Amino acid sequence: MGIRTGAQYIEALKSRKPEVWLSGKKVTNLFDEPVFKQPILEIAKLYDMQHDPAYQDKITHLCEETGERINNAFLVPKNYEDLQKRRAVFEEFAKATFGLMGRTPDFLNVVLTSMASNSWFFEKYNKEWAENIQNYFRHVRDNDLFLTHAIINPQNDRSKSSHGQQDMFTHLGVVKETPEGLVVRGAKMLATLAPITDEVIIYTFPGYQPGDERYAISFALPVDTPGLRILCREAMQDGTRSLFDHPLASRFEEMDAVLVFDDVVVPWNRVFIYNNVEAANLLYPKTGIAQQPAHQSGVRGLIKLQFATEVAVKVADSIGVDGFLHVQNDLGELIQAVETIKALLKVAEYEHEVTAQGEAMPDWIALETIRGLMPKMYPRAIEVMQTIGAGGLLMSPTEADMKSPEISGDFEKYYLGRAGVTGAERISVFKLAWDLCGEAFGQRLLQYERYYTGDPIRKRAIFYNTYKKQRSFTMVEEALKGAEEEKALISNN
Ligand SMILES: Cc1cc2nc3c(=O)[nH]c(=O)nc-3n(C[C@H](O)[C@H](O)[C@H](O)COP(=O)(O)OP(=O)(O)OC[C@H]3O[C@@H](n4cnc5c(N)ncnc54)[C@H](O)[C@@H]3O)c2cc1C
Repeated sequence: MGIRTGAQYIEALKSRKPEVWLSGKKVTNLFDEPVFKQPILEIAKLYDMQHDPAYQDKITHLCEETGERINNAFLVPKNYEDLQKRRAVFEEFAKATFGLMGRTPDFLNVVLTSMASNSWFFEKYNKEWAENIQNYFRHVRDNDLFLTHAIINPQNDRSKSSHGQQDMFTHLGVVKETPEGLVVRGAKMLATLAPITDEVIIYTFPGYQPGDERYAISFALPVDTPGLRILCREAMQDGTRSLFDHPLASRFEEMDAVLVFDDVVVPWNRVFIYNNVEAANLLYPKTGIAQQPAHQSGVRGLIKLQFATEVAVKVADSIGVDGFLHVQNDLGELIQAVETIKALLKVAEYEHEVTAQGEAMPDWIALETIRGLMPKMYPRAIEVMQTIGAGGLLMSPTEADMKSPEISGDFEKYYLGRAGVTGAERISVFKLAWDLCGEAFGQRLLQYERYYTGDPIRKRAIFYNTYKKQRSFTMVEEALKGAEEEKALISNN
């Protein structure tokens, strides 16, 4: 089949009946549920872009294996040019969503592609796992599926590993083997966009210990597999708020969910890792599934930071405060943050390495630096927006207020901005800013940037330790040696 259209994505979504719980109710019709409707339409637009002549050659290519047209996220990059082709889809999808949707289909399609292109890793442990991951990759690629993923176990007692939790099946684990496959029970936190995806892939971060064998698993299933419950967090918009009042929150909310597996059968051909702590722990560091998607999140993060910066600039300009020195200082800082990420992405692409299997891996140091900086830079952009917008951010009227004949005249008189900025213009800009820096929607976006890729503190510690192992810190010794040599010269003279 190859690239789907938006209509095909929606048709598939309507044909499924996953068990989705939202605010105490089982959602029976996902497409018509107001909380999901607009995000579904936003994802459908991305699928349509693949067929749009303005984007098609940029974001898709003909598959070498099938001859069908597929998304560039399924490309195994061999060189710099391939990395550029892949970057194009990351960029176009991110621009279409202002970088606010982190888990657009390209994200997990890259993860899966790098798992499949590193099937040697699975083969080391089990030949069937290697075949399964490759076949699953083909299935997702050829049907252009949209995946969610759940890596992290629920936040119960983090001081204990999975087998040390109070209940043996709080964390997702294998109950038993059957001729049909594994029976799994327990929960995974968290799977973004789960209700509106096609399938879920489960895999792990390192950290499992001996005794955790039943939890050391990786597999994939359709989201409507019997026994799988999708428990949504509280919605941050009810789908009925006006697009004028909430231009971003009404369009781009990514629902997050806990996945509960109630004795779910995972067919053997969908098992990628099972009962193997070493494989579960090494999957992330050894297969490129950290690095390749970091390229996607770097590009997406750049667009999001750029967008937040532009909103902050617009807020400042609309009320005439960007002539003040400290405002210029803050906005200059944000622009420099954007330029830093932009430069790091270029370094990551130029300084890629080609693995023994012939896969081009963007430079990990540059990508990890982006991952380390974004959890500081994005919250800072939000703080600057809050500081510059100040009280005005809270004071925008609603669309209904503006349409009310008795008070509508007030808005062009008391809400207008600097000379040349009408009341309607200033109000629109401030509403956009408030969605990003005030609304629960914006707070989630901030929390996302801090945590979507794991705990930033432990990630930076891992970065430090890996860097230290790979590099020699010799300048101190050289300086001391030089001083000793100088001392010796002086005393000899
Ligand atoms: C909006 C959002 C969307 C997300 N989407 C997804 C998704 O789609 N799929 C997915 O799989 N995950 C997703 N994540 C989850 C993300 O991977 C985790 O939030 C992240 O890995 C951190 O784990 P945690 O939230 O369980 O925090 P914890 O690991 O519980 O950390 C809590 C605190 O305790 C500290 N801490 C915990 N354990 C240790 C330790 N061993 N050593 C030192 N300090 C420790 C941490 O530093 C932190 O301050 C998402 C997260 C967010 C916020």
